[in-house]
Amino acid sequence: MEPVRQLENEHLGYSDTPVLEDSGYHVHDGTRPQPPVVTPGEGTAAPSDAKVIFNGSDMSGWVSANDPSKPAEWKVENGIMEVVPGTGDIQTADGFGSMQLHLEFVSPEVIKGEGQGRGNSGVFLMTLYEIQVLDNYNNPTYPDGTVGGIYGQYPPRANAIRQPGAWNTYDILWEAPEFNGEKLVKPAFVTVLLNNILLHHHKELQGPTRHKELTQYKAHAPRLPLKLQDHGDLVRFRNLWVREL
Ligand code: MG
Repeated sequence: MEPVRQLENEHLGYSDTPVLEDSGYHVHDGTRPQPPVVTPGEGTAAPSDAKVIFNGSDMSGWVSANDPSKPAEWKVENGIMEVVPGTGDIQTADGFGSMQLHLEFVSPEVIKGEGQGRGNSGVFLMTLYEIQVLDNYNNPTYPDGTVGGIYGQYPPRANAIRQPGAWNTYDILWEAPEFNGEKLVKPAFVTVLLNNILLHHHKELQGPTRHKELTQYKAHAPRLPLKLQDHGDLVRFRNLWVREL
């Protein structure tokens, strides 16, 4: 039998327990700040404290990545944005640092091309660090360029893509790198789930993702936009939201 412990009425906690070294609070300390109440969304809808970064009706909040003074020219229909090939990458007008990101994407039902040429896009955290978007359904490519790969650095632990035409969910936990002047003091880390399947668990990035090159960190601002890639394929996105950490 567990001994009956007396809770202190005032704050429903304990003050006669050992002190946790890192926080200075007692174990079960009732004076510790309560976690904020967040109302989860239904299914994959944004929770109450999320910032919805695509309104579903137009491209406001998004700009051209080539020239951020110009609007994003992707197509919007039925709550979905679609790459308009040739209009270029797009990015959020706002910058973000460490965050939880949710988005959904779908590859064209009409299969065109192979390898990197099929349903290619990309989620560029801070405009620099790409988590690959690719239609890898029965379509192999180099492993570190597979959907969910940290492009050019780490293949995903699994190929978790759904068939073309079926929506996929990305849930990405991003820890921004930290710099002191020009010096890297903490690298970036990422955790990635595709369709609820873990692809990377707190993986340390080597630097910005690159094509056919090694990489290294270069100091940048603590908050930078989220970028989506126009790789010439008709990839569509919906339900994009962010919870800043
Ligand atoms: Mg890509």
